Amino acid sequence: MDNITKEKRSKIMSAIHSKNTVPELTLRKALWARGFRFRVQYSKEKIDVAFPAKKVAVFVDGCFWHGCPLHSHKITTNESYWQPKLERNKERDKQKTEKLRNQGWVVMRFWEHELTDVGAVVSEIAQKLKEKKRKTA
Ligand SMILES: [Zn+2]
Repeated sequence: MDNITKEKRSKIMSAIHSKNTVPELTLRKALWARGFRFRVQYSKEKIDVAFPAKKVAVFVDGCFWHGCPLHSHKITTNESYWQPKLERNKERDKQKTEKLRNQGWVVMRFWEHELTDVGAVVSEIAQKLKEKKRKTA
């Protein structure tokens, strides 16, 4: 009923819980190179890249697992199996974002595919950090 092999599925499943995805590492490297210092997997909410002093939280969402509108239709086989999982992920993302916002964080979310232009993402984060500084100063 499902043409994904057992090995492939377990590989996919382990990728969901992976802490150091490639797009995340790409972003971290680019931020570091620009002189930004940050925390990873920060707080109970496991913020991908956090700037605790400014309360800016950055998440990098995998296109498939977090339901990117451009790429989430990649797996169309056995939709009834995947769909509820993806919905749950999306719901969890939303709750996490809301919770952090209530705690005064600025939450930025980027899709994995946006990281192909990491320079643009870094600029956007830099801009946000600057704004936040102005507001709290
Ligand atoms: Zn995407």
